[in-house]
Amino acid sequence: AEAELIRIQRFESLAMLAGGLSHDLRNLLQPLLLAGDSLQDYQDDPRLARLGSLVRDCGRRGLEMVQSMLSFARGARRAEQVKVQALIDALSLLLQGSVPRTVTLDIDVADPQLTFEGNHTELQQCLLNLCLNAIQAMPNGGVLRVTTSKSKLDQRFFLEQEDAQPGDYVCLSVSDTGIGMTDEVRKRLFEPFFTTKEGGTGLGLLSCRRIVYSHGGVMRMDSIVDEGSCFDLYIPLVRATSDTADFDLVENDASLH
Ligand code: ADP
Repeated sequence: AEAELIRIQRFESLAMLAGGLSHDLRNLLQPLLLAGDSLQDYQDDPRLARLGSLVRDCGRRGLEMVQSMLSFARGARRAEQVKVQALIDALSLLLQGSVPRTVTLDIDVADPQLTFEGNHTELQQCLLNLCLNAIQAMPNGGVLRVTTSKSKLDQRFFLEQEDAQPGDYVCLSVSDTGIGMTDEVRKRLFEPFFTTKEGGTGLGLLSCRRIVYSHGGVMRMDSIVDEGSCFDLYIPLVRATSDTADFDLVENDASLH
């Protein structure tokens, strides 16, 4: 229980840090964006205009990152109708340039018209995280497979501590044929700051899981050393109750194990 408490406290301080930082950063970025906009309108001097659009693009990217950091801290999100095909299209676009020649990207969308309740930006971030992890797990190349399908889940699917409901789900799956994970890595996967990578943050999977949970979904992981890993995200097509969207960060994280 003591270890559990420490874990929750670490998580809490992380969320507070992210919340404070993103708030301040947002205030800094807004005037920068305005400056970029004004510079961009400089027709007379193309160099200034180029500089303006650079400033604006970087500012906008920064603002998006800040936004996702804020939603990480708050655990709250805007619900919308997410279209599976749009999600996968956005992902492929984001992955462009990040997939090495040795890695084959294999995308299979079983039901492209399928829509579900959720937050496009967050899920896109989540899938991107998983794909980048998968790529990094295949230094000698391999296959990165992204699939989506609809599945009906009954009570037996859920673990005891999971408070998801049986029903219709969309399954977003990311798998690789990479290095796989040892038991040690599997155990510590979702620990804040746990990373085996030089320069890794150890926050990617934690934030993925938070996003999935805030959608009322569950996450499954399977991995075999030297064969690869697979992450399945199950998101309900319709959220049970929309007022649970603002879920409590600490309580939910405490109930994970
Ligand atoms: P980071 O990528 O910054 O290390 P993550 O939370 O995304 O942070 O991942 C934590 C650790 O989990 C990684 O350092 C790696 O050891 C392991 N991991 C994640 N995804 C994979 C994968 N697809 N294959 C093998 N190991 C993985």
